[in-house]
Amino acid sequence: MTAATLWHPYAQMHTQPPALNVIGGKGARFTLEGGESLLDATCSWWCMIHGYSHPRLVAAIKDQADTLCHVMLGGLTHEPAKQLADALVRVTPAGLNHVFFSDSGSVGMEVAMKMAVQYQVQTGQPEKHRMMSLMRAYHGDTSGCMAVCDPEEGMHSLFSGYLPRHHFAPAPTAPFDAPRAAVEDDIQALRRMLEAHHHEVAALLMEPLLQAAGGLNMTSPHYVRAARELCDEFDVLLVFDEVATGFGRTGKLFAAEHAGVTPDIMVLSKGLTGGYLGHAATLATDKVYGAFLSEDPGHAFMHGPTFMGNPLACRVALESLAVFEEERYLDKIATLNAILRQELLEDSDLRAHSEVDDVRVLGATAVIEVKDAVCLKGVQAFARRHGVWLRPFGRWLYTMPAYVTTADEMRRITDVMKGWFRERAEQAK
Ligand code: PLP
Repeated sequence: MTAATLWHPYAQMHTQPPALNVIGGKGARFTLEGGESLLDATCSWWCMIHGYSHPRLVAAIKDQADTLCHVMLGGLTHEPAKQLADALVRVTPAGLNHVFFSDSGSVGMEVAMKMAVQYQVQTGQPEKHRMMSLMRAYHGDTSGCMAVCDPEEGMHSLFSGYLPRHHFAPAPTAPFDAPRAAVEDDIQALRRMLEAHHHEVAALLMEPLLQAAGGLNMTSPHYVRAARELCDEFDVLLVFDEVATGFGRTGKLFAAEHAGVTPDIMVLSKGLTGGYLGHAATLATDKVYGAFLSEDPGHAFMHGPTFMGNPLACRVALESLAVFEEERYLDKIATLNAILRQELLEDSDLRAHSEVDDVRVLGATAVIEVKDAVCLKGVQAFARRHGVWLRPFGRWLYTMPAYVTTADEMRRITDVMKGWFRERAEQAK
């Protein structure tokens, strides 16, 4: 067994091939020690939306580093945090007027859950202290987050004895473009869960439209709208986890926009800083924020991470938003979407492949779902031989490229994804 000092996540360091040493990156590509260049089809798992070493983002960090690297927001504040809070209120769905910063997607979700519980306590409903989330959900790896992830998925099942008990509504099954009638069963299933448990539920958590780690399971904007209506009917807060869907991934700046819905609380991370620094924002409406305003100091929100509102992270997030708007990223995403649709969704050979169960595309992301995970064994090495970095997960072969990925690069990625299935069909002959 090797004596590794660096402990990698979700990995058997002594049996798996050693992790590849990345020495730099530019655009949608990174370079390995020894000079091999790989096109990153996953943009570092949803976050490096501008690709690597974007000059404006790098310059923003360097400039901020000369001024103020960190100060804790306990009785102190600073311009980058204030400006970023203003900017996020401007770009997120109308009504999300208050921003609480933290440092990762998981912690942003922890903040959302604690905010929801404290809101219920301070509005006289302390019995509403559990969460409801959806099967196939992934909200992070901290204890609070593990407790609201799909309990059958297996990633966190060994911790089940340690985790608090929450409620899980069935994962929606109707596709993105389903008409309202086709979504009715999903909506009624959610209604039944809320009817049964609303008296003890503080908040319904969902990744709107697209369950990212849950195999890119998509749902319709009708479902998201119905969730809003049901939460109002049953007096439950609605929390959107836009950690993966936020900042353009679904084709709009936020997935919530497809449904025209404002949640009570919304969580952003990953693309918030373009992936350049760890950061998260939990946004809340006036209704939620109002429950924390009181003469009683005990009504203050009981959370305060050391690194919340880090100036470097806030500054790079501001630059990331500016680049997103000035360089018309939504147009770039539309171009990537057209290629993904044409090359994957509309490829009849791929869809007819005996091992492929489904192909789904939304915005700048796509997944090939296979019938058996065994079929993807070896795909990563295959892609690497063709200059592409893919990261299969369970029965899913994803791509979520950086938005700076060129049309040629996008086709290269889809060619390699399809090439794997062509090769398997050849071998089976
Ligand atoms: N929520 C969603 C939807 C995610 O996809 C992730 C990470 O993949 C998280 C939360 C957790 O974010 P982090 O890994 O930054 O803690």
